[in-house]
Amino acid sequence: MRVVFATNNAHKVDEVREILRGTGLEAVTLAEAGLDVDPPETGDTFEANALQKAHFVHARTSGWVVADDSGIEVDVLGGAPGVHSKRFSPEGTTPANNALLLERLAGAEDRRARFRCVVALVGPDGYERIAEGACEGRIALEPRGTDGFGYDPLFLPDEAPGRAMAELTVDAKNAISHRGRAFRQLPGLFP
Ligand code: IMP
Repeated sequence: MRVVFATNNAHKVDEVREILRGTGLEAVTLAEAGLDVDPPETGDTFEANALQKAHFVHARTSGWVVADDSGIEVDVLGGAPGVHSKRFSPEGTTPANNALLLERLAGAEDRRARFRCVVALVGPDGYERIAEGACEGRIALEPRGTDGFGYDPLFLPDEAPGRAMAELTVDAKNAISHRGRAFRQLPGLFP
């Protein structure tokens, strides 16, 4: 079954296609669905944003739509950047976001953090379901690795001792990631 994935993030698409391999679900990109849109995310929670993105796209296409909203929560920063992870720094670029995170944590001993992901499935007749996933870890002292995206070079997952998320293959990341954990529930969210 086809499900439109309401994102313009090519890294997310790559990860999710791998996660859904063999499930019978095919994630179709916005471009493949003929949609040149940038779904808004103005909510205060991952759940609100995931639902907002999914409903925005569902209103412009037919069938099933899935969206995810994700980010990194750092305990000593009171859970920031959280839902603001994409635009943590004024520039909103990955290098600027990562540099700001390291700056905010300069000298911090408590570097505990987690990635979180909420998936929203929206379909005909107002059908909606959500699922969540998390990945616990710590913020590194300096970036490591070149795979993945976003904060991956700064994130040391508890479940991959001695390695940053950006040092893992897609499959190894998906096995423990917030997105892997959330999207593996997707087949069970359909009626
Ligand atoms: P959004 O879910 O499109 O709002 O993006 C959330 C932001 O959180 C991304 O732009 C990244 O900065 C960060 N993020 C979410 N998931 C990951 C991940 O798997 N690795 C690294 N950074 C992530």
